[in-house]
Amino acid sequence: MNLHEYQGKEILSSYGVRIQRGIVAQSADEAVAAAKKLQEETGTGWWVVKAQVHAGGRGKGGGVKLAKSLEEVKQRASEIIGMDLVTPQTSKEGKRVHQVLIAEDVYYPGETETSEIYMSVMLNRQAGRNMIVYSTEGGMDIEAVAEKTPELIFTEEIDPKVGLLPFQARQIAFNLGLEGVAFKEMVKFVTNLYKAYDSIDAALFEINPVLKTSDNKIMAVDAKVAIDGNSLFRHPDIAALRDLREEDASEVEAGEAGLNFIKLDGNVGCMVNGAGLAMSTMDIIKMAGGNPANFLDVGGTADAARVEKAFRIILREDNVKAILVNIFGGIVRCDRVAQGIVDAYNNIGEINVPIIVRLQGTNAVEAKELIDKSGLKVHSVIALQEAADMVQELVS
Ligand code: GDP
Ligand code: MN
Repeated sequence: MNLHEYQGKEILSSYGVRIQRGIVAQSADEAVAAAKKLQEETGTGWWVVKAQVHAGGRGKGGGVKLAKSLEEVKQRASEIIGMDLVTPQTSKEGKRVHQVLIAEDVYYPGETETSEIYMSVMLNRQAGRNMIVYSTEGGMDIEAVAEKTPELIFTEEIDPKVGLLPFQARQIAFNLGLEGVAFKEMVKFVTNLYKAYDSIDAALFEINPVLKTSDNKIMAVDAKVAIDGNSLFRHPDIAALRDLREEDASEVEAGEAGLNFIKLDGNVGCMVNGAGLAMSTMDIIKMAGGNPANFLDVGGTADAARVEKAFRIILREDNVKAILVNIFGGIVRCDRVAQGIVDAYNNIGEINVPIIVRLQGTNAVEAKELIDKSGLKVHSVIALQEAADMVQELVS
């Protein structure tokens, strides 16, 4: 689960990490009120208006704008709220902006002493350890740095038995070329950032930029945070931060029904039990000349209600030309799944795309009989090759 920048910053702040202060706003008027409040609290006379969407690269897409007066805050906020923000990390349709963060300007005008640092904490799966990735070359082009000058990116691995050790935090501050107050600030920043990451079971904390201000403060100017979804049961306060507007509506609905569904943009819908089988089914579709319209694992209990729900969600996409159902009857009996398909088909009524059903395993023969006798436009096969051939025929 992903968080918004403002939510990530609030969490960081609660763990003692210095942040660029800001207030979230849902409208241009709220933006002005937020700007005034920040002015009272921090004395700032300039603000940044920042689109709050679950995508990075907002600066490049025009989603981060400086405002030098309250009128400008109002103008920028009304431009950004409601826009479809296109960034290098969104689709070409972009993401609709529902709210903005009004933040104090921390790049104090006229100062040249600020510098932008990159820092993230994430899991290194190969090493089985968390790691801190950091670089002096922070800012909007860290991807280019990683590609062209990877030697400028450092990593520090953390032993899970002992956590981040003080010498490691100092090593990081040293490698970033910091001295004096800034060095001490960075040690504290890294220590508390790691504490935040570890405590809330995050999968990613990416702070780009971490700013060194002209008066040697180290602060988080951005925060991209992802939480391990499997840990949410023990963090109800964080689970409550979920913003469903940022997620695909079909994926949310599928999740509620217990389906593991990810929308893709191909032309063959697929319904499969088991993630591994789902992936190989997608490969088969691809090899047969089609393109999967989704990943869908209906799970171990492919009952009629779930199958129906899955059909309805897949059929919502106009580009779906065929649906391939590939079920292995291990624990679940194929004839029960077949009955589920027949029931779902009858409940939905008109289904205008061909459905290929491949059931293999326990009671596969009975299942095929059931489908063949139902009189529905469902092609039932047992061998996978047959299913692939049929996909090829239907999409070409
Ligand atoms: P991203 O583009 O989605 O990563 O959004 P960021 O929060 O990183 O903001 C993009 C860029 O806006 C940053 O790299 C900064 O250069 C700039 N920016 C952010 N906050 C301020 C600020 O307070 N003042 C000024 N002048 N620029 C800022
Ligand atoms: Mn950023």
